[in-house]
Amino acid sequence: MQVSVDRDRCCSSGMCVLNVPEVFDQDDQDSLVRLRQSSLRPDQYEDVRLAAELCPGGAITVTEDGA
Ligand code: SF4
Repeated sequence: MQVSVDRDRCCSSGMCVLNVPEVFDQDDQDSLVRLRQSSLRPDQYEDVRLAAELCPGGAITVTEDGA
């Protein structure tokens, strides 16, 4: 599974960083989301799917492998 972020839609809520700090980070300069990794381990799938659902800007997209 892959994750991508659209920084144009991010509203800097920081929800994703709080929920999955391994994967998401916030830029020191503009506070917008940054990815620490884009390829996910299976044990991260559930947390990242939830982060995508909870993102107020709809900025997080998860893509299933082979889909
Ligand atoms: S949860 Fe969404 S809006 Fe909030 S920082 Fe993460 S990507 Fe940006």
